[in-house]
Amino acid sequence: MPDRIKYLGSSGHTRGLLDRRHLKRSKHFYNTWPWLRLRREYLAAHPLCERCGASGKVVLARHVHHRLEVRTAPELGLDVANLEALCVSCHNRHTCVEGHRLHRRMDT
Ligand SMILES: [Zn+2]
Repeated sequence: MPDRIKYLGSSGHTRGLLDRRHLKRSKHFYNTWPWLRLRREYLAAHPLCERCGASGKVVLARHVHHRLEVRTAPELGLDVANLEALCVSCHNRHTCVEGHRLHRRMDT
């Protein structure tokens, strides 16, 4: 029985093929040297969360966020103007808002 669960979990037949392709493509991007180097340089130049900074808070940035997602605008993946340094909570909040929006769109 555990083998069967493992098999079903790794095959992922229930997910959409297109979704998986998108995921694979953006995952690949995040493992490339140009991105890893740019991310490190961006965080060195912008060590504080830009959104918290806008409201006067000083919080260390942990994520380099793409304002336009790589899967929707791959040509902007290495464009510094499309990047934003975010702390963990701002990054999570953004992810939650995006998820919520998607959920609402599916509801209506
Ligand atoms: Zn923040």
